[in-house]
Amino acid sequence: MDEKIILIATSNAGKVREMERAFEELPVRLVPLSRIREVLPNAGEIEEPIEDGATFLENARIKAHYYREKTGLAALADDSGLSVEVLDGAPGVYSARYAGVHGDDEANNAKLIADIRVHGTENAAAAYHCALVLVFEDGRELGAEGTCTGFIRPEARGTGGFGYDPHFYRADGRTMAELSRAEKHEISHRGAALDMMKKMLMERGVV
Ligand code: IMP
Repeated sequence: MDEKIILIATSNAGKVREMERAFEELPVRLVPLSRIREVLPNAGEIEEPIEDGATFLENARIKAHYYREKTGLAALADDSGLSVEVLDGAPGVYSARYAGVHGDDEANNAKLIADIRVHGTENAAAAYHCALVLVFEDGRELGAEGTCTGFIRPEARGTGGFGYDPHFYRADGRTMAELSRAEKHEISHRGAALDMMKKMLMERGVV
């Protein structure tokens, strides 16, 4: 039987690690964009798509369809981010480039804490959201979403995870960056969406 290959359509190493772990016991080969030449030796540079959707789900669909069209491979995309209540849902779909430069976690965190301080709180209710879209070789798609609630506080703690994790506190007083990978998977927005996606794949006999 042909090996099932799914391209992980992201260059965010933190997301790749969490996705690989979640699908580890499925009989599929997950190939991150950074290693695409292992399966398509002649693949050229693929420019990043323009993520101009208004929601996480729209952006995940844009990315998954784009990379499926560019490569012919089934593609799994994640669009995710943080919403802070006192900031009316910001940074939202702009989470990766909140301070201006895509993926600059340090600058994003500094801007987040400064913006929250303006509202006179040091304990801001927040939620992570994750939308996953898997587009198969033939263009059919599956979608899944997950949410994780907590609080943003100025003190950064922990070295795990990525992005806003050192400032994202759970009700037990630990930050997301203080959790092991397995613990983060159990409670996180991405863990919930990945488990839902995995269940759909197994129930539909896709893998
Ligand atoms: P995307 O790559 O456009 O989906 O942007 C995702 C951004 O949201 C990341 O760069 C982080 O800033 C933030 N984010 C998403 N998921 C997480 C997470 O699990 N922990 C911390 N930050 C996250």
